[in-house]
Amino acid sequence: MTFFKVLHRALPTNSRFADFTRCRLGCGHVEHFTDWCGDGCRHIRSYWKHVTRIMTAFNCGAYRPSRVLIFFTLKWVETIDGWKLTPINRHMRGIVWLAWKFLWQQLAAIDRGTIGRFDETLALTGVFRMHHTAVLGALYDYITVQQAKRAGARKRCARNQEEAEKFRVWPFVAIGTDKDDLPTLTYTRTYYDLLQQYGITPSPDINHPDS
Ligand SMILES: [Zn+2]
Repeated sequence: MTFFKVLHRALPTNSRFADFTRCRLGCGHVEHFTDWCGDGCRHIRSYWKHVTRIMTAFNCGAYRPSRVLIFFTLKWVETIDGWKLTPINRHMRGIVWLAWKFLWQQLAAIDRGTIGRFDETLALTGVFRMHHTAVLGALYDYITVQQAKRAGARKRCARNQEEAEKFRVWPFVAIGTDKDDLPTLTYTRTYYDLLQQYGITPSPDINHPDS
């Protein structure tokens, strides 16, 4: 399922039911999908602030969500002609997708007609646990191939850069070479700190950023 399908899917919000139309988190707003974006529901606002701060930390441009859904996949980038809105990259789309998934998981568990609570830390822990699993999955084939080659082959650096892009992990794990020209995997500082913050065990196959 693509990110856009998720966004455009009609979520069963309370405004679809005649008997109860207020937000299930008790902010008093009429419950609506767009109210759960950006600066809408006050119980979710800080979650999105957290998510956007994390995305900005990955150096993928300043990410500014908005209640207008289209802005949700755009970021501000400085060009010679001034600031322009451009689509966020696939790494960031993945994080937004997971952020929605774990937000919705909690909202869906609140019974109709009752007021529930949203646990931001629980959602973010889910987001980064699943994200890390996906990163390790993307690296798994790479690690296997490199270990097999380790016997003799000397890989050129340019090739490793290609692999890094191919495996789509650059904001999270850096692919480089050691002094013997053998490939190395190293967590980026930002990603490593995030894993620590949410109690996710780093992989022993990937170097610590300070090593
Ligand atoms: Zn609300």
